[in-house]
Amino acid sequence: MKSLSFVIPAYNEAENISAAIEKISRAFDGSDAGLRFIFVDDGSTDATWREIERAAGADARVSGVSFSKNFGKEAAIFAGLSHVDTDACIVMDADMQHPAEAARRMYELWRENPSVEIVEGIKRSRGSESLGSRMFAKVFYRFFNRATDLDLTGSSDFKLLSRTAVDELLRLPERFTFFRALSHWIGFETAQVGFDVEPRERGETKWSFFMLLKYGMSSVSSFSSSPMQIVTVCGFVFLIFTIILAVQTLVRFFMGQSLEGFTTVILILLFSGSIIMLSLGMIGYYVSRIYDELKRRPRYIVAKRVNAEEKTHREIM
Ligand code: UDP
Ligand code: MG
Repeated sequence: MKSLSFVIPAYNEAENISAAIEKISRAFDGSDAGLRFIFVDDGSTDATWREIERAAGADARVSGVSFSKNFGKEAAIFAGLSHVDTDACIVMDADMQHPAEAARRMYELWRENPSVEIVEGIKRSRGSESLGSRMFAKVFYRFFNRATDLDLTGSSDFKLLSRTAVDELLRLPERFTFFRALSHWIGFETAQVGFDVEPRERGETKWSFFMLLKYGMSSVSSFSSSPMQIVTVCGFVFLIFTIILAVQTLVRFFMGQSLEGFTTVILILLFSGSIIMLSLGMIGYYVSRIYDELKRRPRYIVAKRVNAEEKTHREIM
C-alpha cells in the first residue's frame, strides 16, 4: 500500500471542500492508496476555513492550514507541499476542474512505473475557456517556450509528485515560484496523463485578465532574462537606423539643403524616447524582482492549522 496526499489550494471555495473530498474518495474506490487531504485556505473571505475545519473534524484524513491573508495559488501549493508526509502527492484545484478519474490514472501510472517521480496532467482540451483566454495562453506559452527552452504547452498545476520530487522542490530557495515550470526544471523521469478540463461546478474563477498578465510576466522573468536581451537587440537595430540617417543628413548638409527634415527629427525623438523608456521599465522590473528576492520574506504566513503539525524543518524560511 502507498500513501497519497491531495494538495488542494482553496480561495473562497467553501462550496467545493466537501464535494472535492467526496469525488476524490469515490474515484479511488477499491484502490490500495491510503488517501490524505491537505487543504490550504489562501486567505479566503468566505466560509472556506470553517468548511475545512468541519471536514477535518469529521474525517481524520483531512488536514488544513490557513494563511493570514491571500498569498496566491503558488504560495498555497508550496505550503501544501511542505505538509506532505506521504509517498506521493497530487496537486489539484478545489473546483474539480481537474477530474478525479485522471488523478486515479496518475496514481496507477506512478504505481506501475517505480522509476517515475512525476506524472503531469496535460490539458487535451481547455474546457469552456473563452477565446481570449485560449489565445492569451497560446501566445504566452509560445513566448515562454522561446525565452526559456521549456515547453509548457498544455501543462497545468495538476501533477503527481513523488516524495523525492516534493523534497527537491522544497529545497528551491526562491520566493517567486512558478510551480508548473519548476517541476519540469528539477528533472526526474516524468510520465504524462491527458485530461479534459471540466467546467467549474460551483463558485467562479479567481483570475482576472490583469492577474493573469502579472502572473505571466512574473513566471517568464523567474525563468529567463531574455526580455532584457531584447533591449540590446533594439539598441542594435536603432544604431543601424542612426548610421543611415547620419549619412543622409551629412550629404544634405554639404549640398546646402539641411533645413528640411523636421518631421524626421520629431519621429526619431519620439521613437527613441519610447524605446528607452520601455527598456528602462523592463530592466526596472528585473531589478525589483531582485530586490523582492533579496528581502527574503517568507512565501506565506500560516495563521491557523487543523490536523497539520508544524514541520518547520521542511517549511523553507
Ligand atoms: N486559488 C488560490 N489562490 C488564489 C487564486 C486561486 O488558492 O489567489 C485556487 C482556487 O481556489 C482553485 C485554484 O487555485 O482551487 C484554481 O483557481 P481558479 O479555478 O479560480 O482558476 P481557473 O481554473 O479559472 O484558472
Ligand atoms: Mg478553476
